[in-house]
Amino acid sequence: MTTPTLNDITSCLSAYDPDALPVRDAQRVIRDFIEPVGAIEQVALLAALDRVLGADIISPISVPAHDNSAMDGYALRGADLSGASPVTLAVVGSVFAGRPSGVIPGSGECVRIMTGGVMPAGCDSVIPQELVAAIGADSITIAPNVIRSGDNRRFAGEDLMAGSAALRTGKVIRPADLGLLASLGIATVPVARRLRVAFFSTGDELRSIGQPLDAGCVYDSNRYTLHGMLTRLGCEIVDMGVVRDDPQALEDALRHACEHVDAIVTSGGVSVGAADYTRQIMAKLGDVSFWKIGMRPGRPLAFGRIASNGHSAFLFGLPGNPVAVMVSFYFFARDALLRMMGADAPLPMLKVRSAGAIRKKPGRTEYQRGILEHDGEGRQSVRITGSQGSGILRSMSEANCMVVLHDEQGNVDAGDLVDIIVFDGLI
Ligand code: AMP
Ligand code: MG
Repeated sequence: MTTPTLNDITSCLSAYDPDALPVRDAQRVIRDFIEPVGAIEQVALLAALDRVLGADIISPISVPAHDNSAMDGYALRGADLSGASPVTLAVVGSVFAGRPSGVIPGSGECVRIMTGGVMPAGCDSVIPQELVAAIGADSITIAPNVIRSGDNRRFAGEDLMAGSAALRTGKVIRPADLGLLASLGIATVPVARRLRVAFFSTGDELRSIGQPLDAGCVYDSNRYTLHGMLTRLGCEIVDMGVVRDDPQALEDALRHACEHVDAIVTSGGVSVGAADYTRQIMAKLGDVSFWKIGMRPGRPLAFGRIASNGHSAFLFGLPGNPVAVMVSFYFFARDALLRMMGADAPLPMLKVRSAGAIRKKPGRTEYQRGILEHDGEGRQSVRITGSQGSGILRSMSEANCMVVLHDEQGNVDAGDLVDIIVFDGLI
């Protein structure tokens, strides 16, 4: 089977207009065109944090390995509890966690047991120490109906059965997964190799930190936001600096990147400005589509695959405006790069009340910068961070979430539910 071209993929869309492409169609084309890198490497357990699991992890043991006690108390036979009157049981031994005892209590007998202690054969229930009516020198008395048969017993394999899949391929490894892998005694973990991603900014007006800011110039901020986003995504990054609006410089930069990395992210030059040679050079080097997407902020986006000297790389030509570059990264490049790493990590969307009215035109997707807040009564609402101009990075910095106003959606009234995606989660 040959690799499909972008044209093969876009021809499957019911109506394809590169100059008015809905967000969901652009996302679908990207998803269908992207291919996972597929290379796996083995890393030490602690180095696996935030990496993408490269193979299913089959549990070599059951966790817990034995039936054990959930409480400090006395292990007993549930059958001894039947009846409406108090029961007195002889205490015939003790079990500590990690030190199983060979004692097998008979009918009318019990064993003192600590939390995590292996349940003695024949016992199926544990009465917590604090529920025992009377504790004698070598016996205990239990009042009727304080526990039921089977209480406070953890079953072997209750957490995980030997031979079952503990973790699935494609999972991004979190702290809980490190703990789970450790509980199985697993010291090395198969993970997807880090994705190599090069990025550069384009524009003659861009200055780098440390250079004087000449008239009409701006400092290059996109390389810094991209650095942050790509690093958070777990990519191995190659910062190629600022590339001038010059056809030869752009071609050299794209070819060089293509020969060394899996994906290239550029910012600027993909709209139709007079000095924007980026489109022309990208088209020359490969299979690249240039879209105007029905979204705000964002709109221009170049996507495809370019090749040089037998190497190829996926290309994301993001717009130049500082907020547009972040929004386009979040809603197009993020998912694609994760897929290249074999991860499936869709973003959770939450519904929250809008604190105020929001003006919104149907027929395009708007990503507004929002601040999710709690009032004194614990109710949550989201408010928009003032002006939504696509160059205003300060409001992106003030925001803690993106409000997603979908294509078909119109104006929002105060109190209406809106979809949001929060920037940060639990650690
Ligand atoms: P462009 O898409 O190249 O026409 O750029 C659109 C706007 O974004 C222009 O005002 C640029 O000056 C600005 N811009 C482009 N790249 C950057 C960057 N790396 N850092 C800050 N602003 C940028
Ligand atoms: Mg430019």
